This record gives sequence, structure tokens and C-alpha cells, in this order.
Amino acid sequence: NDGDTMPILVIGTGYGGAVAALRLAQAGQNVVMVEKGMSWTQPGSDGKVFSNMLEPDGRSYWLRTKTDQPINHFMGADYNKSIPSYTGVLDSEAFSGIRIYQGRGVGGGSLVNGGMAVTPKQENFASILPSVDAGEMYSTYYPRANAGLKVNNIDQTWFQTADCYQFARVGIKQAQRSNFSYTFVPNVYDFNYMKQEQADTAPRSALAAEVIYGNNYGKNSLDKTYLAAASGTGKVTIVPQHAVTTVSPANGGGFSVAMNQIDTSGNTVKTKTVTAQKVFFAAGSVGTSKLLVTQKATGKLPNLPDAVGKGWGNNGNVMVARQNQAWDATGSLQATIPCVGIDNWADAGGPAFAEVSPFPAGIETFASLYLAITKNPNRGVFSYNSGSGGVDLNWQTAWNQPSIDCAKRIFDKINSKEGTIYRTDLFGEYKTWGDDFAYHPLGGCVINVATDNYGRLTQYPGLYVIDGSLIPGLTTVNPFVTITALAERNIEKIIADDFH
Ligand code: FAD
Repeated sequence: NDGDTMPILVIGTGYGGAVAALRLAQAGQNVVMVEKGMSWTQPGSDGKVFSNMLEPDGRSYWLRTKTDQPINHFMGADYNKSIPSYTGVLDSEAFSGIRIYQGRGVGGGSLVNGGMAVTPKQENFASILPSVDAGEMYSTYYPRANAGLKVNNIDQTWFQTADCYQFARVGIKQAQRSNFSYTFVPNVYDFNYMKQEQADTAPRSALAAEVIYGNNYGKNSLDKTYLAAASGTGKVTIVPQHAVTTVSPANGGGFSVAMNQIDTSGNTVKTKTVTAQKVFFAAGSVGTSKLLVTQKATGKLPNLPDAVGKGWGNNGNVMVARQNQAWDATGSLQATIPCVGIDNWADAGGPAFAEVSPFPAGIETFASLYLAITKNPNRGVFSYNSGSGGVDLNWQTAWNQPSIDCAKRIFDKINSKEGTIYRTDLFGEYKTWGDDFAYHPLGGCVINVATDNYGRLTQYPGLYVIDGSLIPGLTTVNPFVTITALAERNIEKIIADDFH
């Protein structure tokens, strides 16, 4: 409520925020979490909490009147649909050279993501975050994160015959024929539940085209894991539909935090200001970066370092699809949960880790779709725009060319071996590469650069950053296990040193 005081406020309920809240509560602290999205617990008129990808409605997107699907065309036609404007679960946030997809709601990105729970190779981690003790991460914090997230592995015997993974088996076969190595990828989606879906003994979710607008069943998103455990301590209060706007030092100590309470149309129904002794920024790479550059530029937190807003990257994300031969059908029933990656990171000429992605169109498409994570050296900068009062990101679409070059090293070779071609009808009219959007925003407040080596904003004791903005633009694999493990490491140190 307006005027409240509290010991700890966490801004955002994604991976970083959920870890911070749980561990602080277990250490005996009372925590308030604010989240600008909704609490996704109430079913709509169709009896379901979330809408699927084939029939999206207002629940799908954050305040849009038309869907903005990553695959926005199909055989020459615009694949997007009109929807009512609503505070839906997936945000496609547009900057000049890139659209950045993010989850909105209690659970952040875990509500909309593919659940791929990948621990990077230790040598790759060490090259990205040299200031963080990799030995400790791999012995303690990655295992802790995997357990907390309820990561599980697919039953590879079942995989070999399940209809819903024909697309992935085709992906493996073609990778092998071109001498690429592949790996099964762990997930937070419950693969035992998926077996029941395939056997028609449980309501379908992954097998009913549900994922980027939320899964009604099967997925262990954060609201079922870390946040449920945090609430279970009785010490954590989660306040949805509140967007933080300003943070500044309060007279008499602590921080004054202003926020807008919003309705499902996105309109502010009330503004509130609270005072918190300690504030954790966990609004995600984009959300935290936007908040921090705004506070610095508008004089609310003028002493923040110049490194705030810098070092942003898209994890080298690029998407592409190939059109298979008639004997390589990919299946009309496709699990929305990817479980296989082609690992070409060791290729010094263009490192890439490409997940074999589903294309759950409900019909046979003969298409193989991939999301590649590549080693792209370009980094963007967020800056406050005093004219609009918003925050710009200077990323240019052309900066994705290195990612395309990395991905081509895999897919040009597979195309030539299979006698196949790229599809050009999915990411626009006559456009091969999905190079103008990202699922994996990272950086903007890089650890040991903009913060100390544990995420403290040292100019303002009591302010912390604990989300994907700490990671310098790249994780070499899908990022949320690394975000979670780094948060586990940092919060342990912060609790030990800063809470007495
Ligand atoms: P987030 O999870 O983004 O959480 C930040 C939260 O803060 C959000 O809920 C947001 O609404 C809230 N917030 C923002 N601003 C404010 C504010 N001003 N006030 C209050 N609240 C605010 N990663 C993987 O590892 N594997 C995958 O398979 C995978 N698939 C993906 C698929 C899609 C479609 C998308 C969009 C992402 C995917 N990701 C995947 C990426 C992953 O979800 C993100 O890396 C992760 O969620 C980032 O965690 P975070 O804690 O940094 O922030």
C-alpha cells in the first residue's frame, strides 16, 4: 500500500527475483515482490488460464491489438491475428533494430519459455564470466539451480517412437548425416506428464500447441517451483499488476520506490510510493536496464556507474527453417517443448548451438525449424531518451550477420547433404533468417563491471541487481539455468555479508 515501509523489495518475479525471495525468506527475512504482469491463476471463459498458439486471444500478448508471432508469415500470407488489447503473458517489446520477447506475469519468462534447461560447458562459462569461480558454480550452484527448477530429462527410449518428436528425430538424423554432434537437452516441462499426453490419459498442453502464450499443464514454471516455495515460507508477499517507475534514496535511509498499479488494459489506477531498506532489481535484462538508465539520467540515482545500460547482447539468437524432402515429414503433431540441440560450439570458425525447434502448425509442413545460439560479438547500449521519456537500445538488425554466418556453417552443410533449401516464407515475405527478434536478452548491468562481483550497486549500499542483466550478452546455451545459478551464488554471499 501507499506509504508502506518494508525491509526488502524485489522488483520482478522471474528467475533472479524468485531465487532472491526464496533464499532471503529462508534466512528469516520478510520480502515483498512487485510484478507488473498478472498472476496467472484464474481460468478464462474457456476454462483455461492460457490461450494456445493456434487460437491466440487477449491473454497471449502484452497490450497489443494484433499478435506478433516470431513466425509471422506462412506461405506468403501474414500469419498474425487481431486480438483484444490486454495485459497478456508475452511481450514483444520493440526497439529500433530488434523485437525482444519477454514473459509478463508472476513467474516472468518461465511462463512463456520453452523450458530448455541447459547448463553450459564449464570452459565456456569460464570464458564468459571469468570473475566468477567456475569450480564453485559447477559443484554447488548449478546443481542447486537444477534441483530448485525441477529439471528433468526425456526418456530416450520413449523418444524414439513418440509421434510428437518425429520432428526432433528428423533433426538428429540430418545432423548426424552431416557429421554434427547433437545432445539431448533437459527441460523443466515434466516429460512424464508429456508421456500421458501422448497416450491420451491427461489433458494436452505441450501436445496442444501451448508454450509461448503459456502452458496450462505440464510445465514446472517458477510459480510451481521457487515462487511456490517462497510463498510457502509465509514470509513472501507477491503483488502483481504493479510496475515500478522510480527508485531513489529515501530521507532517513533506505529507498523510496514509486510504482503504478495497473488494470488489465494497462491503465494506471493508482500510484504508490513505498520505502524499502533494500531493493533487488530483478526486472529482467531489459526491465532492469531501463529502470537503471532512467534513474541515472533523471537524477534519481545519479551516482550509478557509466557501465549501467551497457554490454547488452541477444545471446546470438537467430532462427531459420529448412524445407525437407518428401520422405522427411516432421509430423502434424509436434510437442512444443524442444529436447534436442545440435552442438557446433567447438567450430572456431563460427560457434553455434542450435535447438531443433517444433513448428506446431497442426498440419504437416515438411519444415525443420531451428533456434540457433551463436557467438555474436556485438553489444548494444540502452540510453534514456529525454524527448520521449523512454529508453532506446542502439542494436541494429545488421549486427546479427555474425550470428547468421555461424548458423550457416551448420545449415548450409545439411542443406547440401540433403539436397534441400531454406524456407523463405516464415519470417516475412522472401526472408530466410529470423534475425530481427530475440528470446534471450542478456546484459545491461554486467557483473563485476557495473556491479561488484555479486551484483551490488556499490554506490548505493542496499541496491542489488540479480537477473539476466548481470550476464554479458551471451551464455553459449539457453540462459535461464545460468541466471538461476548465478543468482543462487550471489544471494548466498549477500545474505552472509549484508544481513546480520
Ligand atoms: P524475467 O524472467 O524476464 O523476469 C522479469 C520480470 O520482471 C517479468 O515478469 C517482468 O514482467 C517484470 N518486470 C519488468 N519490469 C518491471 C517493472 N518496472 N516493475 C515490476 N515488474 C517488472 N531460456 C532458456 O533458458 N530456455 C528456454 O527454452 C527459453 N525459451 C524462451 C522462449 C521465449 C518465447 C522467451 C521469451 C524466452 C525464452 N528463454 C528461454 C529466456 C528466459 O525466459 C529468460 O532468459 C529469463 O526469463 C530471464 O530471467 P530474468 O530473471 O532475467 O527475468
